Amino acid sequence: MLKPEPQHSAYDVVIVGGAMIGSAIAWHLACRLDFPGRILVVERDPGFRQASTSLTNSCMRQQFSTPLNVRMSQYCAAFARDFREEIGDGAAPRIHVQAFGYLYLADNEDFAAHLRRVQTMQAGLGAGTRILSRADMERRFPYFDLDGIILGSFNDRDEGYFDGATMLDWWRRMARRRGVETVHGEVVAISRTQNRASAVTLARGTRVNCGWLVNAAGTRAAELAAMAGIAGLPVEPRKRYTYVIAAENPPSPELPLTIDPSGVHMRSDGAHYMIGAAPVDDTPVDSDDFSFDHSLWENRVWPAIAARVPAFERVRVLNEWVGHYAYNRIDRNAILGPHPKLDNFLFANGFSGHGYQHAPAVGRGIAEWIVHGRWQSLDLEELTFARVAQGAAGGETAVI
Ligand SMILES: Cc1cc2nc3c(=O)[nH]c(=O)nc-3n(C[C@H](O)[C@H](O)[C@H](O)COP(=O)(O)OP(=O)(O)OC[C@H]3O[C@@H](n4cnc5c(N)ncnc54)[C@H](O)[C@@H]3O)c2cc1C
Repeated sequence: MLKPEPQHSAYDVVIVGGAMIGSAIAWHLACRLDFPGRILVVERDPGFRQASTSLTNSCMRQQFSTPLNVRMSQYCAAFARDFREEIGDGAAPRIHVQAFGYLYLADNEDFAAHLRRVQTMQAGLGAGTRILSRADMERRFPYFDLDGIILGSFNDRDEGYFDGATMLDWWRRMARRRGVETVHGEVVAISRTQNRASAVTLARGTRVNCGWLVNAAGTRAAELAAMAGIAGLPVEPRKRYTYVIAAENPPSPELPLTIDPSGVHMRSDGAHYMIGAAPVDDTPVDSDDFSFDHSLWENRVWPAIAARVPAFERVRVLNEWVGHYAYNRIDRNAILGPHPKLDNFLFANGFSGHGYQHAPAVGRGIAEWIVHGRWQSLDLEELTFARVAQGAAGGETAVI
């Protein structure tokens, strides 16, 4: 049970949002011997009922179109592998990884050329991605109907499911042990003095002064930025549907996370399968809107998966939910680090569906920024707010 009131009136760092990203930052910072300061995490929804973190699909991959995203995911894979040593407690569990891989299917020459290009980049960074011909795929994945497919891009090294929930649990537990305070409260106002965010006010009226203010508010990041007078943070909630299904004749216990040209994706989930899809009308929604369109399954999702995997003609839906991506509408990528004018206000926002796996790299990076005022382990400069002001072009194309 979280306390409702902070114990102090001032903190060196106040982190707004205590889910995957806020907790990664709090733990990385609290571990640093060169950071003696006080850390407060403020979380409005301590059960994380609406957080992307609870509604996630919990997978990692290196099949991104930008080298930096590949590297950030590689850090997640290494962090998961060495988790017990990283977390610094011999009682910590191993992080379970099921490396069924990701498989992108191309049904046109343009996308096939794109996959070939990014495979070269990914492999150059040490990823295990390889291009599979249709014949390769027919041999390896005989349960697919590959009608219309030209090639696939596949990697089953360090790609697949990882148990991020256990990572989060231990980040929170060890941060608490290292003195991080977390309160159940909602930040409703931010005070400014010239070029600094000086204090936050909670819904109960409590005011807390801050040295640094970190925006880890997920889909509500733009609302929080607006409280500090920062207009137009391009992060908006977008719905993503998830279905867990049982198949009467399971096609394979190791179905890769397959991104079908229809946009629907499917993968193994233990003895069952997990299916994901965007709504037909993929537009921003209210952060409290979790209404469920039941026609999506019948009209779009089931036809797509049954066409690609004929064994999915006979399935039963066991569970289904809708969650929100914190979607960066400009370039589908994270926005990290300081605001150019409000320099103690740090963004950790806009992950667009890949924030779970990037949490270790973001936690480490923001902690480095707070302590040293620069990125150290990995240069995250291309993800700063500056590109938003310049109306960034390009960005990440591998967003599902
Ligand atoms: C269906 C789905 C599938 C996904 N699959 C993957 C995947 O396979 N791999 C992957 O890497 N990523 C995936 N993601 C994305 C990933 O889950 C998110 O990027 C990640 O969880 C974001 O964490 P976060 O802490 O930034 O945001 P959130 O989890 O949304 O947490 C933000 C927190 O801030 C709190 N908050 C907001 N405003 C305030 C305020 N004013 N005061 C106090 N607290 C506040 C909220 O209550 C919330 O708990 C998926 C997301 C969804 C929805």
